[in-house]
Amino acid sequence: MKIAFFSTKTYDKESFLTYGRKSEHEFSFFDAQLDYKTVTLAEGHEVICSFVNDRIDEYILKKLSQIGIKLIALRCAGYNQVDLQSAKKYGVRVVRVPAYSPEAVAEHAFAILLTLMRKTHKAYNRVRENNFSLEGLTGSNIHGKTIGVIGTGAIGKAFCRISKGFGCSILAYDLHQSQEMKELGVQYLELNEVLKKSQILSLHCPLTPETRHLINGHSLGIMPNGVILINTSRGALVDTKAVIKALKSKKIGFLGIDVYEQEEHIFFKNLSEEILEDEQISRLMTFPNVLITGHQAFLTHEALEQIATTTLENISSYQRGDVLSNEIKAD
Ligand code: NAD
Repeated sequence: MKIAFFSTKTYDKESFLTYGRKSEHEFSFFDAQLDYKTVTLAEGHEVICSFVNDRIDEYILKKLSQIGIKLIALRCAGYNQVDLQSAKKYGVRVVRVPAYSPEAVAEHAFAILLTLMRKTHKAYNRVRENNFSLEGLTGSNIHGKTIGVIGTGAIGKAFCRISKGFGCSILAYDLHQSQEMKELGVQYLELNEVLKKSQILSLHCPLTPETRHLINGHSLGIMPNGVILINTSRGALVDTKAVIKALKSKKIGFLGIDVYEQEEHIFFKNLSEEILEDEQISRLMTFPNVLITGHQAFLTHEALEQIATTTLENISSYQRGDVLSNEIKAD
């Protein structure tokens, strides 16, 4: 099938060309993000392959169906960016990669947490300038802390296993409790109880209308002073304004984020020569206790292999008329 890739980066191209070399599909790689202006690039293709910040709303879906696109192959797990009702209306099917190395994301969440708690980002810069002073580098142990995990799906589970290895008490909230996690020692509680009792909170649930701004002024009020908040899931799980206020009042002790509410216009681009117009991320970057990475939690060799092979399998299954096990539908 002829596949148009949007938001393509070098690592996407490399992994699809490597793991897709034996497939019969034809690839067109476009750097452009999918939006109202770029949607016409899909002309002449049968499938589009898109990533987390490609806008797929009603207008785009209507255009895609007019162009003759029958399948959208998301090369990611989350699908909050797709208007599934409109996809149904215009007869465009949507598949995703439900799990690709959940450890990649869970390990990155832990990397952010460890960096913040041991200030290795500051130590790295100091030592490079021959400054071997330890003043201001006192950290805290993770061992013995109570960690709250919101969402114990594939990534949340991997995060719980790592937390267990570090000797933490683990509390969790999910709509569905996992027996496997209970056997690991994870204690499921109501959301507010998890918020109240966790010294470290890590978000691993999807972005849905119910979870949008799950972390807001009210929920932050319930959390203990100095709470450490880690978000590697989706930016809009967190009300950024409320988080900035909580950082100013020291309610939040450390904030580590790999995702950001307005990341669509910023992340995955080199803006080093430009003036950032986004006031909120600029403000976040002024805090010494905030660490931001640009949606890179998924970016490991293992995950890229899994993303490419599953995406291509999804497309081949569609071509053969098989049941699409990774399809997502409006209901
Ligand atoms: P998953 O579907 O395996 O697990 C999600 C879990 O969240 C499920 O157990 C589900 O029951 C739970 N959940 C759903 N609604 C909830 C709610 N209202 N409250 C509490 N729990 C709820 O998904 P996953 O593979 O573990 O991925 C989780 C999220 O991580 C994705 O939705 C995506 O947004 C994000 N993600 C980020 C990156 C990155 O690079 N930063 C990469 C992959 C995934």
